[in-house]
Amino acid sequence: MKRTVAFSKNATNLFFHILTRCNLRCRHCYINPAQHGRETLPLATITRWLALFADKSQTTNVIFLGGEPTLHPDLAQAVQSARRLGYQSVTIDTNGYLFHDILARVTPAEVDYFSFSLDGASAPTNDRIRGAGSYAACTAGIRRAAAAGFATSVIFTVSRDNLDELQQMPPLLQTLGVERFFIQVIGVRGQSARGPAAAQGPAGPQVSRQEWCQSVPAVAARAAAMGITVSYPKVFLDPGEPFACAGRVACNYFIFPNGRVYRCPLCEDYPLHSLMIADDTLRETGGINEAGLFQLDIPEGCVMNKLIQPGNLAYDETGRPLYRVACCLLKEELSPD
Ligand code: SF4
Ligand code: SF4
Repeated sequence: MKRTVAFSKNATNLFFHILTRCNLRCRHCYINPAQHGRETLPLATITRWLALFADKSQTTNVIFLGGEPTLHPDLAQAVQSARRLGYQSVTIDTNGYLFHDILARVTPAEVDYFSFSLDGASAPTNDRIRGAGSYAACTAGIRRAAAAGFATSVIFTVSRDNLDELQQMPPLLQTLGVERFFIQVIGVRGQSARGPAAAQGPAGPQVSRQEWCQSVPAVAARAAAMGITVSYPKVFLDPGEPFACAGRVACNYFIFPNGRVYRCPLCEDYPLHSLMIADDTLRETGGINEAGLFQLDIPEGCVMNKLIQPGNLAYDETGRPLYRVACCLLKEELSPD
């Protein structure tokens, strides 16, 4: 069954970067220490910051991220703090190295998903993007997590470097016992916004609209037919489809260890955060920030795509956009029949 996951005001999602340190140096890493800091948040701070958001909606979910969150020695206690505070679901996004014996220090009742980043169906492709040995470490981590009774998901960031291996992912995930598959689109931010990788169009890492529309929905359908729940960003709206900016209508918070809180991930390379945690209090930043951009109604749809990813757009001879670009947070979800 396929559905577009509507934005909901009744659910709050925290994307909580508890540190920015990582053992890998992935080609498209979006962590930008100049903007996000280099701190490792102490457990007491993590718990106080979790408490700031715990009662914002009927349902509050947290995704612990880094850097590599399992490098944090107190991740298990952070998970337990989230549970004590009433968080509905807890996910750990990991590169698969699973430091600090994390699988032995949390339980499947405490962690809804371990979500593994894998950017190729084969070691040569994945390791070209994520570093030597990372495919073996990640697939071994998935197997260990599944064997310990945890639900697992995989995040695959589609780029020109790995598009041709996307169709090999469903059988691999089936073999590994993965329950959910998140297909992501590469963003022009972090490492991808620097050097030659920052190029747009055929010279850059992003795939074209045609490539995306020809490949991604078909692979998603194949994975769903194999019993895997799949989600992928819509990216390109069909004519007549409504546009909505998550910054206006949803409750997502992207929190970094230097206290910056963004509502839009495409803003994270810039000091455009609309909120800031200072002295354990969540405050609006004021001035020019992302919140002002969310209010702009433009014929292209997403304002941030127009500003930083214009390669996603196309115009007719009169200068009118040929289609609108969706919010990067708008997802299609396919569940097994
Ligand atoms: S594993 Fe994640 S945080 Fe680490 S370098 Fe890769 S993309 Fe960045
Ligand atoms: S990606 Fe675009 S539409 Fe989505 S929150 Fe950011 S500015 Fe709004």
